[in-house]
Amino acid sequence: MAGITVACVLADRGWRVTLVERRRWLGGRASSFLDPVVGHHVDLGQHVLMRCFTAYLGLLERLGIRDKVFLQRRLEVPLVEAVTGRRGVLFSQPSLPSPLHLSASFLAYPHLTLREKVRALRGILSVRGADRLRQRDGLEGITFRQWLETHGQTPRIIRHLWEPIILGTLNALPHQVSAMMGIMVLQEALLAGPHTADMGWARTPLSPLLEEAVRRHLARRGGTVLTGVAVARLMWEAERVKGVALADGAEITATAVVSAVPWDALPHLLGPGWAEHPFFAPVRRLKGAPILNIHLWYDRPVMREPFVGFLNSPMQWVFNKSALWSLEGPGQHLSISISGAEAYVGKSQEELEAIFREEMEHLFPLARRARLLHFRGVLMRNATFCPAPGVEALRPPQATPIPNLFLAGEWTRTGWPSTMESAVRSGLLAAEEVQRRFL
Ligand SMILES: Cc1cc2nc3c(=O)[nH]c(=O)nc-3n(C[C@H](O)[C@H](O)[C@H](O)COP(=O)(O)OP(=O)(O)OC[C@H]3O[C@@H](n4cnc5c(N)ncnc54)[C@H](O)[C@@H]3O)c2cc1C
Repeated sequence: MAGITVACVLADRGWRVTLVERRRWLGGRASSFLDPVVGHHVDLGQHVLMRCFTAYLGLLERLGIRDKVFLQRRLEVPLVEAVTGRRGVLFSQPSLPSPLHLSASFLAYPHLTLREKVRALRGILSVRGADRLRQRDGLEGITFRQWLETHGQTPRIIRHLWEPIILGTLNALPHQVSAMMGIMVLQEALLAGPHTADMGWARTPLSPLLEEAVRRHLARRGGTVLTGVAVARLMWEAERVKGVALADGAEITATAVVSAVPWDALPHLLGPGWAEHPFFAPVRRLKGAPILNIHLWYDRPVMREPFVGFLNSPMQWVFNKSALWSLEGPGQHLSISISGAEAYVGKSQEELEAIFREEMEHLFPLARRARLLHFRGVLMRNATFCPAPGVEALRPPQATPIPNLFLAGEWTRTGWPSTMESAVRSGLLAAEEVQRRFL
C-alpha cells in the first residue's frame, strides 16, 4: 500500500515510475490469494478501515475506486459476551458532539456494572483530555495498561472495555502497547468526532480491488508495474543509490529509489554497511505481532449480521464475507479474525479446525446443523509491528541520510499504528520528500 501510494502520487506529479513487487500480485499484507478449493480470492486477513482513515480513502479516490469500499453511516459494533451470551452494541449518535455521541451506547453497554461505568467514564475523559503531544516522552515510556491503572481502571473494566478496542486496533493487549499509541487511537478514532470511528471494509477481495486500478493509473502516466520479481539489492555509486538489481538479473537505474518493503526486509536490501548506520540500525529492533484469520465455508447460512465481536472467546471477530461481498448463496463464507495470535503460532490446520469449529458451534447454533465444506487458517506472523513503549523512537522518517534513497512503509514515522492508513501516510510523506529533494 505504501509503495503503491508513492508510485501513484509521483506518477501524478510527472515522474516516470517503476513499481517492483516481489509477489505476483499487488497489495502486500492487504491482499488476497486465489484459493484453489473454492476457486475465488480469499483475503490474507480481514481488513477493517475507519472513517478517520482519510489518507487511505484519499488513495482510493485518486485511483477511482472509492465506491468499492463500504463505510457505516454511523458506528455500530455488536459485541457478545461468549459465556453468558449477553449482547451489547457499541454505537454512535452522530447528532451529539463528541464524546456525548457514545453516551447512550455506553449507558446501555451490558458488559460493565453501573459502578464500573462511572469509573470507565473517568478513564474515557482522561483519555480525551490527555495532551499526548506535550506528554510524548512520558507516554512513550509506559504501557497503556499502566496508564489505565493509574487512571482508576480495574482489571475487569480493562478486560471488558479497553482490551477489545486496543486488541482490534493495535493487534496487541493494553500491557503490550505504549500509552502513547493507546491514547492516540482512542483520540483519533473514537473521540475525535461522532463519525471518525465508523467502520468499513472492501466490497470485494483485496487484490482485485487494487490491482487493475493501480496498473491503469500508472500505465496512463507512463509508469511500469513489475510483479513476481524481487529487488535483490540496491546498486550504489559512491554515497548515492544508482538503482536496483532484481532477482532475475535485470537492473533498473533511477534518479531516486523509494524502499517500501516491510521493516524486516530493509536491512538485507541496504547491505551490511548501511544497515548498521545509526539511522537504519534501530529498525532491526521493531518486533512483529501475528494475526490469525480463519476462513470457513458452510453449506448454508449460519450467521445473519455482517460482523460480530466476542468477549471471552478465542474468536474475537467474525465477519460474514458473503454479506460483505454480496456473494450469492446457498452457502456462506465466514472469516474469523484473531489479533495478538501468538498462541496459535505453529498450530496445524487440523488443530485450528478443531478449536474454531467447536467455538463456532458453541456461539452460532445454526453452525451445528450446517456442513463445513472447507476450512483454511492463515497465520501472518509479522502482520503488524507491535507499538510497544519506546517503539516510536525506532521508526525512521522517510528521508534518509542517502540523498536519493527514501523510505515508505507503515512502520516508518507517521505517528499512526500499523494500519493501511499509516502505510498510505508514509507513502504521501515519502513522495513529498522526493519532490522536496529534487525541486
Ligand atoms: C492479517 C492482517 C490483518 C490486518 N488487518 C488490518 C486492518 O483491519 N486494518 C488496517 O488498517 N490494517 C490491517 N493490517 C495491517 C496492514 O495490512 C498493513 O499495515 C499495511 O498493509 C502495510 O502496508 P505496507 O505497504 O507498508 O507494507 P506491505 O503491505 O507489507 O508491503 C510491502 C511490500 O513489499 C514487498 N516486498 C518485500 N520485499 C521485497 C523485495 N525485495 N522486492 C520487491 N518487493 C518486496 C512485499 O511483497 C509487499 O507487497 C492487517 C495486516 C494483516 C497481515
